[in-house]
Amino acid sequence: MSELITCGLAENALDYLILAGEQAKDGSPRMTKHALAALADGVELLLKARLEMRDWCLIFKDVDQASRPKYECGDFQSVVFDQAIGRLKNLCSVEIPSKHLAVINELRQLRNRIRHFAVNSDRAVAISIITKTFSFAIEFVSEHLEQVSDGVRMEMDRLRLFLGEYEEFIQERRNHIQPQIAEKFEKHRPGLECPKCLQLDYYGNDKFAHCLFCGYRCEAEAAAEEWVEKFESVHGNLPQIVTCPKCGANACVEEGDSDTTFDVCYVCLSCGESGFEACPACGKVHGDENREGLCRECWQHHFPATPMK
Ligand SMILES: [Zn+2]
Ligand SMILES: [Zn+2]
Ligand SMILES: [Zn+2]
Repeated sequence: MSELITCGLAENALDYLILAGEQAKDGSPRMTKHALAALADGVELLLKARLEMRDWCLIFKDVDQASRPKYECGDFQSVVFDQAIGRLKNLCSVEIPSKHLAVINELRQLRNRIRHFAVNSDRAVAISIITKTFSFAIEFVSEHLEQVSDGVRMEMDRLRLFLGEYEEFIQERRNHIQPQIAEKFEKHRPGLECPKCLQLDYYGNDKFAHCLFCGYRCEAEAAAEEWVEKFESVHGNLPQIVTCPKCGANACVEEGDSDTTFDVCYVCLSCGESGFEACPACGKVHGDENREGLCRECWQHHFPATPMK
């Protein structure tokens, strides 16, 4: 399998998606129509890119006709949508959730109606489908394609940054991820700012930092390094990365944008626990609960008669 060509398909797909986003953001009926077309093309390319990752023959409609020369010059009839979905499921163990599948189908139908009958589609309907398709696309690429190459990762960075600033997508995505956030965290709290999309949905969980908004994932300790490099501390005198008192990963970074050094708290990008503070007496970052913010040792030293809860 030629890695060069594989990357080409996935990168191309992402380029179509970004183009579609720019057109949708423009807002005019004409651009919305183009956005639907570009997005539908982009989605088809994404599916093909994943098939190609498994085996380039799979992007031929008729696998028996697959040949390397035809493949290399693009001279062949390529796999159709339903076939692609079936091959992804049966040969690549990639099953697209039915909720997403319904959206992609709707997108394709809308694109065809517009192309053939020049229907002036209701903008609200079109934008709803466009934004929902983006939700599918970032989840699909994050899970199934992003590891392919640096080029794909770079295109994905562009898409994430774009989507993090696209108001209508932000609303759609918020609704989409709300149940996940509610399920994972008893009391809803905003996450850290994501280094890729800049939304406040970056959480630690199970040794990885994960952005629920844009799908970005990074091993926790590397994520902490990346995070402090991106978002410089406003409290220059405090350590930027500390060891988590709960899970031991060297992956706690400053939480929130407190104005004073006094209320700086740390959150862990590995286990997701938050609210760790630096002990005002010894400086150790801890998760011990008491009113003075002291760590357990300092509390016992200063108030030996009053045990901590
Ligand atoms: Zn993000
Ligand atoms: Zn932790
Ligand atoms: Zn202390």
